[in-house]
Amino acid sequence: MLIAYKERCQLAEFNTSYPLRPEHWSSYRSNELLTFGTELSLYLHIPFCPQLCSFCEYTRMATPRENLQAHYVQTILRELRTFGELNPQFQLAGFDIGGGTPTALSTHLLELLLLEYRQFLSSRKLASDFEPSIESTFQTATADKLRVIGAAGIERLSLGVQSATGSLLRAHARLNESEERMLEVITTAHDSGIQKVNLDFMYGLPGQTPASIHSDLALIQRLSPEQITLYELRTNMVQLPSASADMRFAAYNIWYQGLLELGYCAPFGRNTFSRNPADAGCSSYLRKRMFYATPYRGFGISAQSMGLNGISYNKGKGLGAGNLRQCVEEPDYSPQDVYLLSSAELAAKYIAVAGYSGQFSLRVASRLLGCDAADYYAEPILFCQEWELLQLVDDDILRITPKGFRHIGAVFSLFYSPPSVTNI
Ligand code: SF4
Repeated sequence: MLIAYKERCQLAEFNTSYPLRPEHWSSYRSNELLTFGTELSLYLHIPFCPQLCSFCEYTRMATPRENLQAHYVQTILRELRTFGELNPQFQLAGFDIGGGTPTALSTHLLELLLLEYRQFLSSRKLASDFEPSIESTFQTATADKLRVIGAAGIERLSLGVQSATGSLLRAHARLNESEERMLEVITTAHDSGIQKVNLDFMYGLPGQTPASIHSDLALIQRLSPEQITLYELRTNMVQLPSASADMRFAAYNIWYQGLLELGYCAPFGRNTFSRNPADAGCSSYLRKRMFYATPYRGFGISAQSMGLNGISYNKGKGLGAGNLRQCVEEPDYSPQDVYLLSSAELAAKYIAVAGYSGQFSLRVASRLLGCDAADYYAEPILFCQEWELLQLVDDDILRITPKGFRHIGAVFSLFYSPPSVTNI
């Protein structure tokens, strides 16, 4: 176990993604469909952005002309309607609209999308903690679009800042926005009925320093959003030099202490923070994924879905910019790569996703495994407790310690399938 842990610590690409490469699941490929349970979240992927940041690992392309945007929106809405007709019974746990930049759509198309969203919701039973969310940028969040979002009942708006240091952003082909504009967007969002604004920041970017992180924290203090999400730069899908594990650990520590001092809450190791201690700092879609492994269905190119029996990716996964446009022009974006997984692989995927919150639940892992996770993972649990990498909380949650967080990907990978002998 110690050797497995040390090996993973050496691998720069090891992080909480799972699997690191789709071919690791090739033996699970299937032509069958996923099955979903009685509770489900939905996700709409809008792959358009006015700018393509070099650090971004999401499936996205430059915003096309409105006729292609319209084709895309009509296609995902048709697929959403069909899915709803075929699955009339489930309770809706969450609904996220992400990308890309959903507000890169024209105001008319965003309105059309959200009108259909409201109609879809009107015939659904919603979970008591249902909290829909949409992603945006300061450049694209016009007052008209914010009003449309608020009127649709979207409760959470997530805006990318990434860094307050303009030179850092420009080095990654991203424009920075003035503080006045940021304040204007946040105020308009609240005035439009959007209850929570989240700001995304990154750490581990080449050129980032303690001083630049303190500038980010000072900006947060002035803008005072309800939530903050920290993203670690991941380089297994983008070609960028990355900060060392020690530098990323030092950066997270500065962020964590700084956010606590500003009144934000989260257990150490989590990347979502909220001013409300009872709030996990994310939408119900992500909360249910991270904490309960609740199934979800993704619509749009490359969107991922997780059912009770596996994972699928829609058309478009892994395509370069030129081929993405062709894919967007297609008449459907149906699931293309379907993997019907073993219970151990489902549990491993859950643990990897839960890794974003710095913890996972033994109860949820037991449900996925079909046996007692404390027994199944006895060896890595013992190792992680002896080495003070994870601590057991409430007889259920295995939470990363500050020592474990230094190599969080290595720690969680000890629980991949089969424990400690993953394909790397
Ligand atoms: S705006 Fe967001 S989604 Fe688009 S390229 Fe930049 S980071 Fe990626």
